[in-house]
Amino acid sequence: MATVDGPTTCDQCGFEEAFRSENTRSGEVHILCPRCGRLMWTTAVRDRIREMIEGVAFYKLTKDGHRIYRRYGRPGHGVLFLSAQLGFGQFSPLSQLPSDEMIAEVRAMVASPESAPHVCYLTRWTGDSVEFVIGSDKEPVWRQDAGTGSELAQEVEIG
Ligand SMILES: [Zn+2]
Repeated sequence: MATVDGPTTCDQCGFEEAFRSENTRSGEVHILCPRCGRLMWTTAVRDRIREMIEGVAFYKLTKDGHRIYRRYGRPGHGVLFLSAQLGFGQFSPLSQLPSDEMIAEVRAMVASPESAPHVCYLTRWTGDSVEFVIGSDKEPVWRQDAGTGSELAQEVEIG
């Protein structure tokens, strides 16, 4: 599986460092905005019947031999990013706006000793901008490299 990852601009909030991942073999693309939670993906249309008969992947093609892609998307409502002390973190795009209960739960999780509170955050899409309900983008996890992420990286190396 060959993938090429790089930043792209989010078409919902305009954030310029949304995650873009492209599979160079299938041509399929996944985009996740780590701020507003917008998701987009394309899939190549497969020929399932031919795959069953021949036992390998087959894509449906246009008359001039190009693969056919379907484009899907889900609007962003916000993102939860939780990270543990050792630098393991996960972006979870929200399927709806965060409720008061969810905000209280996340606050408790972020305050627990296992989490890395300086990088955890919860956002909400207001309809025209991204609001940080918990945390901030002062130490953006999507930009953590040898410089800003060194604290987390060192802990992993020592452990
Ligand atoms: Zn966005």
